[in-house]
Amino acid sequence: MLKSAHNLVKSVGKKLKLDDATVEKLLKADAEHQFEISLKSGKQFKAYRVQHSNKLGPYKGGIRFHPRVNLDEIRTLATLMSLKTAAVGLPLGGSKGGVTVDPKVLTQDELEELSRKYVQHLQSHIGPAKDVPAPDVNTNAQIMDWMIDEYQNLTGNLSQASFTGKSLTSGGSEGRDEATGRGGVIALRELLMLQGLSLQHKGDQVLRFAVQGFGNVGSNFAIVAEQEQPNWKLIAASDSGATIFDSEGLSASSLAAFKKQAGRFSQYKNAQVLNSDAILFLEVDVLVLAALEDAITNKNMQQVKARLIVELANGPINETAYGYLAKKGITVLPDIITNAGGVIVSYLEWLQNKADERWTRAKVNTELEQYMIKAISEVYKTSSSQNLTLKEAAIMLALKRLT
Ligand code: NAD
Repeated sequence: MLKSAHNLVKSVGKKLKLDDATVEKLLKADAEHQFEISLKSGKQFKAYRVQHSNKLGPYKGGIRFHPRVNLDEIRTLATLMSLKTAAVGLPLGGSKGGVTVDPKVLTQDELEELSRKYVQHLQSHIGPAKDVPAPDVNTNAQIMDWMIDEYQNLTGNLSQASFTGKSLTSGGSEGRDEATGRGGVIALRELLMLQGLSLQHKGDQVLRFAVQGFGNVGSNFAIVAEQEQPNWKLIAASDSGATIFDSEGLSASSLAAFKKQAGRFSQYKNAQVLNSDAILFLEVDVLVLAALEDAITNKNMQQVKARLIVELANGPINETAYGYLAKKGITVLPDIITNAGGVIVSYLEWLQNKADERWTRAKVNTELEQYMIKAISEVYKTSSSQNLTLKEAAIMLALKRLT
């Protein structure tokens, strides 16, 4: 994934006539922190924080707990964060953190110990004006609450603006949980409007979509679509074990309730159950990728039948597949714009914390809407006027702001 992201930045840099030294400088992280976390039980884990760029404001980026976390992945995600904050016009930089751990094998006490120790190692490098972490895969508001509590105890800095994605009682923002999914719905709605795209299935005025990955981002995308887009129909959803499919339509809110209660789609009884990857190859108008990176690669790209793909996960389509899909005329709404809703509302949380304010959900959603509409419109204009893919256009906007 690192190579794909770098190649894309290099090729767009060429189009902008940036010299090699400027591009190399853009790709290099400002700082990389690597350390080991030892728990009282004797378990040890590798941990990272990469601070890519603070040219536009404090570093900003999530922390993920996942067995596949490694330095290369965190580097790439930190670079993508700088590109994302720049592309959507936020006064923030980019960073990312992670621990190589499967949190499912930890007890609740061990998870808290791990979260607090992560902050102990990094306390002098983070803070409201330096680097503001947030949740990512397998981390959540509870983990942010432990982390900010640890940071406040260690440093005496009681500002709530040192972490975002906190619970409401610890200074979190209304609307943060659903922000990335909601931002994705706004992005798709705006693109369809700008392109005047007619994706409706066989004249029945319904846009049929499928969501790979029904965690925070995927389920909220589907729920917001269900509430606000009556002509969009969810016909399939997947998790890491199964795809569930019903051509007549599925209820996103019922599926989210089922996931919370039963955990696995493989046990779902009210629709057809297919294997996990089957979702990628369904005949749909829109395929939403909301699981992990590299979902579509050279190995499976030829089987994709969707007409438009929404990248809500980070880097779910690899470089070769991206080129192949573009040639086939499949539009891809790129990750750095489409999933920016999370960092936009994180930014709004940080602003509220700094000003000691609490905004209503309606105000947060209105601000999110405005940032997303502006970003999509700028990307679309750049893409049309310079004959670039939407991803190249998003990167071009970001590079202009970062150089
Ligand atoms: P999550 O852990 O809540 O959900 C991930 C879901 O993906 C889980 O339901 C899991 O079962 C599923 N999954 C994993 N492998 C799968 C596979 N092979 N096929 C189908 N499903 C699979 O995580 P999340 O917060 O929803 O994040 C999802 C993606 O969105 C990640 O790439 C993350 O980096 C990105 N993202 C998240 C945010 C945010 O605000 N949470 C913001 C920007 C980007």
